Amino acid sequence: MPQTSIFSEASQRLEEAAKHVTISEDTIERLKYPKASLTVSVPVRMDSGELKIFQGYRVRYNDMRGPTKGGIRYHPSVNLEEVKTLAFWMTFKCAVLNLPFGGAKGGITVDAKKLSRFELEHLSRRYIDAIADFIGPDVDIPAPDMYTNQMIMGWMMHEYSVIQRRQVPAVITGKPVAMGGSLGREAATSQGAYDVMQALLGKLNGSPKNTTVAIQGFGNAAAPLAEMLYNAGFKVVAVSDSKGAIYAKQGLNIPSVKKFKEDTSGLKAVYCENSVCGFQEHDVLTNEEMLELPVDLLIPAAIEDVITDDNAGRIKARLIFEVANGPVTPEADEILERKGIRVVPDILVNAGGVTVSYFEWVQNRAGYYWTLEEVNSRLHQKMTEESQRIWAIHESKNVSLRTAAYIHALRRIEEAINVRGTKEYFGEKE
Ligand code: GLU
Repeated sequence: MPQTSIFSEASQRLEEAAKHVTISEDTIERLKYPKASLTVSVPVRMDSGELKIFQGYRVRYNDMRGPTKGGIRYHPSVNLEEVKTLAFWMTFKCAVLNLPFGGAKGGITVDAKKLSRFELEHLSRRYIDAIADFIGPDVDIPAPDMYTNQMIMGWMMHEYSVIQRRQVPAVITGKPVAMGGSLGREAATSQGAYDVMQALLGKLNGSPKNTTVAIQGFGNAAAPLAEMLYNAGFKVVAVSDSKGAIYAKQGLNIPSVKKFKEDTSGLKAVYCENSVCGFQEHDVLTNEEMLELPVDLLIPAAIEDVITDDNAGRIKARLIFEVANGPVTPEADEILERKGIRVVPDILVNAGGVTVSYFEWVQNRAGYYWTLEEVNSRLHQKMTEESQRIWAIHESKNVSLRTAAYIHALRRIEEAINVRGTKEYFGEKE
């Protein structure tokens, strides 16, 4: 699929939502374009002595509701179009959760796994040097995303503070707790997704005991979520990583899969023939085969565009929870809807991360830190309330949960745009 289509795909969701509510032309016009996009070249002296230039990006999509917010990803396929799309999604995600933020995203085109630790640190610091005038605690606040983590956020916050000649913890969230990070931020995406499931599963006629689950991914968001579901009694029958998937009809023992992954840094089940690695027998599948398993709940938690018009017709799950950003394309949405498969959208399901990022920013600015219980109970409250609001729109307007989430966000964004004056207000003759 051509890379340029990803943004137009994202805009289709906005157009779909706009059909069901009265939204001003001003709002639609504003949301068509990013506020500002920055492309930078990031020079890094490699361990070999060679100088390498990496391409970096930061897009601030819309700041009508507050300073912009969103993660930074390191991935070989990162490009401006993708970062812009992710920034657009962040605008809606922050509005869904009623956070006082607009949306942004950043990224570097790099295979981080191929860098040494020193190279990774240099790259992260040089990237912040390059974008320092574009970010700030009242302007734009980055955070982790794919292949970035707490330690990288710590380096970045430190670099920004060096540039500013003062400590500025609120410029970046997802930092190590010892550098002003929030308790509960690491597990926030999974915790939030779990809260959404708790809020909606009853309405969707499900309960843990009789629900089989397949999870694509076993990273920062997916692995803790798999464990939470396992502990709650769900039958997690399949999990995967970039190399492949493992499947056991009777349910996987997630704690031992997790331990195996930590020990070997791979799920490579082929290494575990005859259960030598301590968990029960399982089949080895490709990621594609895993997505098509006959399960109740399918959780794509890895990358975008994995359920497309190519494979949507073969999906057998009853329900899809999008933990990754953008795993289902608009064409696939239509096919799934026709088949009666409900999709709970990314801008709600994975919003726990940015919600606890907001809590971290609040704590940094107040200089007063909350307990884990406070963080998790505030997160639970927000995820539950907004899930219920979206469910109510879904029912009253008879639209998909995705369209309901967009309508919900759009109303809040529109309000922030309209209070500055509308076409009617300025067009009226005195
Ligand atoms: N990268 C995460 C997301 O896509 C978190 C963003 C943040 O915490 O600002 O939602």
